[in-house]
Amino acid sequence: MRKPLIAGNWKMNNTLFQARELINSLRRELIDFEDADILICPPFTALSDANDLLIESNIKLGAQNLYWQEKGAFTGEVSPLMLKDIGCSYVIIGHSERRNIFSETNQDVNRKTKAALSAELTPIICVGEVLDEREAGKTIEVVKKQLEESLADLDEEQILKSVIAYEPVWAIGTGKTATPQQAQEVHKFIRTWLKDKYCIDVSQQIRILYGGSVKPSNIKDLMSEDDVDGGLVGGASLDSASFVEIVKNSV
Ligand code: PEP
Repeated sequence: MRKPLIAGNWKMNNTLFQARELINSLRRELIDFEDADILICPPFTALSDANDLLIESNIKLGAQNLYWQEKGAFTGEVSPLMLKDIGCSYVIIGHSERRNIFSETNQDVNRKTKAALSAELTPIICVGEVLDEREAGKTIEVVKKQLEESLADLDEEQILKSVIAYEPVWAIGTGKTATPQQAQEVHKFIRTWLKDKYCIDVSQQIRILYGGSVKPSNIKDLMSEDDVDGGLVGGASLDSASFVEIVKNSV
């Protein structure tokens, strides 16, 4: 019922030359692949070239961040309209690196989510606990607060146009993946929270991605869990062969 979504978060990687090479290779390898939605999120500098290379392709384009204002004196920031204009249909919001390195709060994530939706961009809203919180048994409490504040005031129509990504921070870029059971426990909590806040129909339609050291070797097991609908892939999305294998193993 929910079509898998595999999203590559390139983070601050790839020059234009490297980006073009990677995209051309992905296009070649995934040309007929329709069983999952495929998304790449290059850095801002490569979005325009990426859009040109992805015309009439089954690979969608997303950004890694935005600012919530439409335009104006916000040096260094990029608006939702600019992303739409350059060909993006998705945007990652509240990635743990934005939260932890750039001090983004749940309130910022909420503003950014609403701005993305207003510009008809699909937000991928990230939540997840750090290691200390998991070890203290606080994972659900932390994720609940992130959901409550990051998704505050979103109506049914808005949440249906959103994607949620559960990314345990201790698993991002560390090579440590949550077990499929650990992922499922939190994904199930998120879906139940959505059911309680909205309704069962809404909760069943929303895609919840897992992120944190997703690799070709673990995506199948993660995807076998009922509430895991895809992956947000960092490191492994920089290598064409790995990303292609993750996409193909996701279904
Ligand atoms: C990410 O960037 O969202 C991520 C999950 O990274 P990695 O796959 O490298 O852990």
